[in-house]
Amino acid sequence: MSGELISTRGIEGQELSYSSAVLQGLAPDRGLYIPHQYPQLDADFLNGLAGRPYIDVFYELKSLFIDPTDISRETQYELAEAAYTQEKFPVSDGNIVPLTEVADGFFIQSLSLGPTAAFKDMALQPLGQDINHILEARDETLAMLGATSGDTGSAAEAAVKGLGRVGLIVLSPETGMSDFQKAQMGALTGSNISNVSIDGRFDACQKLVKAIKGDPEFADLGAVNSINWGRIASQIPYFVSGYLQAVDGNVGQLVDFVVPTGNFGNILAGYIAKKMGLPIRKLIVATNENNVVDTLIQTGTYTYKIAEPTSSPSMDISEASNYERVLFDLVERDPLKVRAYMEQFNTTGSVKFGDIGLPADALRKAGFDSDTSTEMDRLESIRWAYQQSGEVIDPHTADAVTVARRKAERGVPIVCMSTALPVKFEPFIREALGYSPTREPRFVGLEDNADGGFVVLGNDIDAVKAHIRTFRQERKL
Ligand SMILES: *Cc1c(COP(=O)(O)O)cnc(C)c1O
Repeated sequence: MSGELISTRGIEGQELSYSSAVLQGLAPDRGLYIPHQYPQLDADFLNGLAGRPYIDVFYELKSLFIDPTDISRETQYELAEAAYTQEKFPVSDGNIVPLTEVADGFFIQSLSLGPTAAFKDMALQPLGQDINHILEARDETLAMLGATSGDTGSAAEAAVKGLGRVGLIVLSPETGMSDFQKAQMGALTGSNISNVSIDGRFDACQKLVKAIKGDPEFADLGAVNSINWGRIASQIPYFVSGYLQAVDGNVGQLVDFVVPTGNFGNILAGYIAKKMGLPIRKLIVATNENNVVDTLIQTGTYTYKIAEPTSSPSMDISEASNYERVLFDLVERDPLKVRAYMEQFNTTGSVKFGDIGLPADALRKAGFDSDTSTEMDRLESIRWAYQQSGEVIDPHTADAVTVARRKAERGVPIVCMSTALPVKFEPFIREALGYSPTREPRFVGLEDNADGGFVVLGNDIDAVKAHIRTFRQERKL
């Protein structure tokens, strides 16, 4: 049997299927689901995937985590096809995660060719399909409520739009989102999607979501969050594809990956790929000024830090939820140690590896490295990439490129993950390069309708609750 998942905080040794873990998101004990065992890849398997269309690489890898009695192989393939259509990922050769070599052995892997131009599409598109299928199989429906500061909202909406079993309401702040982001979301309103504009900032939206879910009437609302196991499982395949493209037939050669990191979801998938036997030498975390994770990797101390807004906003985090899954392995999968560690972090805001008997460099020993990239570094890296190769990169990718330039070693190919298209951050690109990148036709004139598609509800919990009730009644969710 494959696909059994356990919770990082579980003590009963209960195992769950992929479908159940995906529907639950967070485990009832507030832990995160992780495979009971990591499937192992060998050189023959990897060689057999080289040069294949991405959809096949995706299917072959992801199916290692799903038991066929849970979701049949045939259905898994159909779900993959529905997630990554040509219409949503408009590329001509089937490679939706291509590498560009910007300098000798220095690659950028694009993960942002999907419908909302950010890497979140890579995981949320398949997750939307999976959830809808699982609900259909159980003859259930699900209404979901989420808050967004920008990117996640549109990616989640694009992932569930038009799916019959799911409805999604997203609260977004009137202050803090770019016109491009607002327009992207507004354009997705309709059928099973509702966009609500809240008078305030992102934290006001988060507070409302928390308060509403605390009300028993709304406790059954689903969540959109970055800790769902389904998202991680859908991110592992592009590390394999990136690896195969970087080594170009030389399977076994070690490769470094640099990942612009916020909530640790993207790099966690790389970590699992490495544990499965993909020949990764180092997993290098690039943070912006909100460098909780860089500090953790370098010093062994995990300290909550209030996030400051930066020009790579999708990495502006105070804590990195997905890191708990690596911690679980570091403490040899002892859920009591995970609980103690997380409890100390949640109550005091800081915890050291020494407190649970681990060496300060435990993460570096596990193959991680890290560094911080600042505002000046982002500007400089955008210029560098452009001068090297004519590639225009976005500020998140620029954080990865900054760190990769410091960490690259001769003879080891290095792959930087590109997590958004520059079109989403035009003012910053203008600052760096003096002009705006040309837009693909699908994004031309997008902001002309920036305020359309939102229900404006002030910051009034009763009004939001009433809106949710009506939404559910009308759509029978
Ligand atoms: C979400 C996001 C990130 C951070 O990814 P994590 O999985 O949270 O580490 C980086 N760049 C962009 C553009 C994103 O949207």
